[in-house]
Order: sequence, then structure tokens, then C-alpha cells
Amino acid sequence: MGQITEIFSLNMIKQMETFYHNYLKSAPAHAIFQAKTPNAVITAYKSGKVLFQGSTPEIEADKWMNSKVGSGTDSKKQPTRNDDDNINFLAQSHIGSDESGTGDYFGPITTCAVYVRDEQIELLKEIGIQDSKAITDKKIKELSGYLMEMSIPYSLMILHNQKYNTLQQRGWTQGKMKTMLHYACIDSLLKKIGDAPYAGILIDQFCLPPVFIKHLKSESKSIQQNVHFMTKAESYSIAVAAASVIARASFVQEMEKLSAVAGVPLLKGASGKVDQLAASIIREQGEGILNKIAKVHFANTKKAMGLV
Ligand code: MG
Repeated sequence: MGQITEIFSLNMIKQMETFYHNYLKSAPAHAIFQAKTPNAVITAYKSGKVLFQGSTPEIEADKWMNSKVGSGTDSKKQPTRNDDDNINFLAQSHIGSDESGTGDYFGPITTCAVYVRDEQIELLKEIGIQDSKAITDKKIKELSGYLMEMSIPYSLMILHNQKYNTLQQRGWTQGKMKTMLHYACIDSLLKKIGDAPYAGILIDQFCLPPVFIKHLKSESKSIQQNVHFMTKAESYSIAVAAASVIARASFVQEMEKLSAVAGVPLLKGASGKVDQLAASIIREQGEGILNKIAKVHFANTKKAMGLV
């Protein structure tokens, strides 16, 4: 069962209530209305939050998506719990998924999904599993090593630069690439863990859930059951934090391999220093090498060419 939560104005909620008048049920506490269609149960709260839950919630949510409050202003500062009322499984066995390398000019995108059992949560916290962005590369390798030793089930996907550039030229956005990578990691991990119990799946949110669902649909896939989204999820979920560590460790390792290809240690990020480094690599090896080591559609390519 999928679910999507969005905020709407009260005026819009009134319009929704009228629209769904043939499907209304008795509303739960704090709700303005609840309706049940063949696609989803729609619950609108006095806070403006509307929850779409069911087999195909995106069909109902899509009807209203252009009219929600604060469209496209997904805050980076505050965590967005798109399923506010339903992400109550983070102290239980669950799956978390995160990626690395998306903002770095050089290197691949790495994505990882991790399965953490409830009895492992405390130990993982104790050994220092946390948001990979807050840890040094050396520590990342060490922590990733611990996770391997503990045989924590995980699935890792690496989108190498050549494939990334091909997909990008084919019209794929980075959001679509990330969507398909998360989907593939979760799919492979679910096969790996078989019937091991898990209370939910949490993806570190990088786009609105309906956009995620649309990307999947464009490749004839549909979202797995019990998938939830939250920004800054690595701060709340040990499984997402572990996924961020493994994804980052893999990114660091791939960067070392690519540094050997480039003949110089590659820098992370997409700063002016990266432009200069790219320019010196182009001078040594020609522009063609960028396809193997960089995300060539980034503005860094043009800037580097200007420096050659
Ligand atoms: Mg993330």
C-alpha cells in the first residue's frame, strides 16, 4: 500500500470534500473529511495536511498536486515527513535507502539500501553509524567495514559516469536516475532478505513522492509496498544512516579508482577548484576523458573548457 501526504489550503480542502461527496466516510479525530475511492482513502486534516493512502494513491493525489500550498518549496532546513502519522517504525526492524555523489562533478552516483533488525539498532548507534556527511572519509571506510563484518544485509548500486552521461543525454533527469537506483536497491534487498520481517521502508527524500512515482511509471515500474519518504532521514533512521555510510564509502572508493584513470587525485564537490582541476586534466588527456570520470552536463565542463 502506498501513501502520499501533501499540504493544501483549507479552501482547497473544501473543494476536495465537495468533489469526493459520493465517497465520504465518517472522519477520524482532527480530520475535516475522509473519503474512500477505488484508488485510495483520502484523509484531510485541519492542519491542511491531506493523506492519500491505498493501492494507487498517486491517481488521487495527482488531481490536486498543482494546487497545493508551497508547491516546490520543499524545505531543506526542516525534515519533511511526508507520512507524518505513519513513520512510526524507526525503532523497529526496517529498511533505509540513501545515495551519494549526486552533487559531485567527478565520480558516480552510488545508492544503497540497508536492512536493520530492531535488536541491532542500539549497537549501530554505539559504533557511531550516523549521517555520512558528518564523518571524514577515513571514518567512513572504517564504519562501512564494521557494517560488512556484521553482515548487515544491503544492496548497493553504482551508476558509473559513462552510463550516467548516456542516460542524461537520453533526457533522464538526475531525479529519475536516483529514483530508479533507489527502486533497484530496494528491490534487490527485498529479494535478499526473503521473508525477514520489516515494519517499513524509508527513503531519504530528494523529490516529492508523486514525482518519484511518475519516474517509476515512465519505466513501467510501481513503488514497492510500505515505502515512505522523509528529508534528513539519516538523522532519524539508523537504516538510512547505515545506507548513507555504505553509499559514501563506495563513492570514496570509486573516486580513488577514477583518480588513477585521471592521473591526479580527483576533488569532490563542484567548486571553482574542481573547474581548474578539470581544465588541467583536459590539457593532459583531452576532453574525451570527462565522459569516463565526470557528470559532463554540470556547468563545470563549460567553465573548465574556458580555462584550457
Ligand atoms: Mg540523501
